[in-house]
Amino acid sequence: MEEAIAANLAAVHSRIEAAARTAGRDSADVSLIAVSKTQPADAVRAALAAGQRVFGENRVQEALAKFPELREAYPDLVLHLIGPLQTNKVKEAVALFDVIETLDRPRLAEALAREMQRSGRRPECLIEINTGEEPQKAGIAPTEADAFIADCRDRLGLPVTGLMCIPPADEEPALHFALLREIAKRNALGVLSMGMSADYETAVRFGATHVRVGTAVFGARRPLPAALAAK
Ligand SMILES: *Cc1c(COP(=O)(O)O)cnc(C)c1O
Repeated sequence: MEEAIAANLAAVHSRIEAAARTAGRDSADVSLIAVSKTQPADAVRAALAAGQRVFGENRVQEALAKFPELREAYPDLVLHLIGPLQTNKVKEAVALFDVIETLDRPRLAEALAREMQRSGRRPECLIEINTGEEPQKAGIAPTEADAFIADCRDRLGLPVTGLMCIPPADEEPALHFALLREIAKRNALGVLSMGMSADYETAVRFGATHVRVGTAVFGARRPLPAALAAK
């Protein structure tokens, strides 16, 4: 497993470099987030041994079960929350994550602001934009993005640094990446988290500063342990 993960990481890095070169970008401006959801701690350890330091998890409980111990061994580890955040998990999320990518509704913004005030911890926040305006999907509608960003930054004082999106599965992702870039640009936000295993090279061409890659690094996702799946 260890060798496969190291080889996968090297392959993804070289594809990011090639995509950046094509776009006239410096690949140092693109950060690879290794998405370790459903993977055991040993898989994360193998990635750490290969030099990977930035990880993404989509459940607070699962991340809590894996990462505090790994962090002690690797203090420079950086952890992103990339899944939906319930307001009753805000306290744990603020304590654990360095970046919360899924700020997707006013109530969550209020809860994050309160908890940051209380704890003094201020993880970076990205605002999730529902670029495809899919009713079942989380995120702020593109037409409401400017007002929501302003509210989070100016009224609530949240450390908003950028945007993230998950394009509709059946559409050309490039259009969504371009829209996300446009919204970020007019709001002077520098961070763009976009692109997954199937489309991260396209995302790099469209300006991604962070790509979230799971299966291309770790292989197929594993079934969740029952104890976590229930939560
Ligand atoms: C699981 C997940 C990813 C990684 O997906 P892969 O296709 O395995 O690369 C990226 N972003 C989010 C929000 C995810 O939930």
